Amino acid sequence: MSDFIFAPPPQPFARVRGGGRFAVRRIYCVGRNYAEHAREMGHEPGREPPFFFDKPADALVISGAGVPYPPETADLHHEIELVVAIGGEARDLAPEAVPGVIYGYAVGIDLTRRDLQAAAKKAGKPWDLSKGFDASAPIGEIVPAAQIGHPKAGKITLSVNDTLRQSADIADMIWSVPEAIAALSRSVTLRPGDLLFTGTPAGVAALARGDRLAGTIDGIGRVDTTIL
Ligand code: MN
Repeated sequence: MSDFIFAPPPQPFARVRGGGRFAVRRIYCVGRNYAEHAREMGHEPGREPPFFFDKPADALVISGAGVPYPPETADLHHEIELVVAIGGEARDLAPEAVPGVIYGYAVGIDLTRRDLQAAAKKAGKPWDLSKGFDASAPIGEIVPAAQIGHPKAGKITLSVNDTLRQSADIADMIWSVPEAIAALSRSVTLRPGDLLFTGTPAGVAALARGDRLAGTIDGIGRVDTTIL
């Protein structure tokens, strides 16, 4: 008999191409990892160390499901991103060792309440809830690195209602996947089930109810959702 006071919450998961579920433990995100996006957000990009934030694991939305327009915002933004799925333990890793702990890759969307984020930044307050709200992390199927290797380049796009909004190449990331994960592993221990959203290229913009989002990364896959 269980001694939990309430039934344990369902295990958040992402789907794996070809079948199976990837049980998700933590979701981390990299900020400002494409130069043109840093500029559109009002920052001059540089090689300052990468910075990270997180989302609750149960913010995941499986591709194909809808996202309710969240409360307390009038400026919900899309950010299309390469997502890395961790399959091993990573603590204080060198970049060269990072591929050994990567299970696979997916396409994800880092939904952002941009008005809350801007207000929090201006006030010097934490902006966690501009990023970590319910259903803020749609994700497509994870494709195992065992099938595709470790892609270093590939076109990344996001269309809203069939109009292209974001288009770049994952080769344009300021911090590569191995560099970002190595940096994060100096701060926290990564374990199987962790996800890293690796930052978005330029072109972030507002969404409205009814919008259909379609994100792609060549060689990896896609993600689809609708704002409800
Ligand atoms: Mn982002």
